[in-house]
Amino acid sequence: MFDFFWDRVEIGAPDECWLWRGRPNRGGYGYVWFDGRQERAHRVAYYLAQGEWPAPQCLHLPLDGQGPHDRRCCNPLHLYAGTNRDNVGDRLPLSGARNGRYKVDPDAVRAAEGSAKAVGKRYGISDARVRQLRAS
Ligand SMILES: [Zn+2]
Repeated sequence: MFDFFWDRVEIGAPDECWLWRGRPNRGGYGYVWFDGRQERAHRVAYYLAQGEWPAPQCLHLPLDGQGPHDRRCCNPLHLYAGTNRDNVGDRLPLSGARNGRYKVDPDAVRAAEGSAKAVGKRYGISDARVRQLRAS
């Protein structure tokens, strides 16, 4: 149901930058009209992947030896939550994917069209997890 958003993102492998296809603004960020307001594309990506909005200071993670991160990047795995919920949360990258507890909106996954593999790629989860969610 959020295909209108992901259709505008150059979706790649989890370790690649998923660039916003639209024109960036002067600050280098992609912007999208979402939920009745202009929102930074990478924040929307985070919201769709995690099921909750990141803090306003949601930032891109540094890339190893590749210079500054492209601000158009919408890969949820490349974003800091920037949350104040606890003291370490704003410094840690989204490590959930590594420990297998990456949080997605189950309803969004169930509603997503396409093969389990394609949907899993879109949400940063395994195709097995997609099938599991669909069956639940
Ligand atoms: Zn990136």
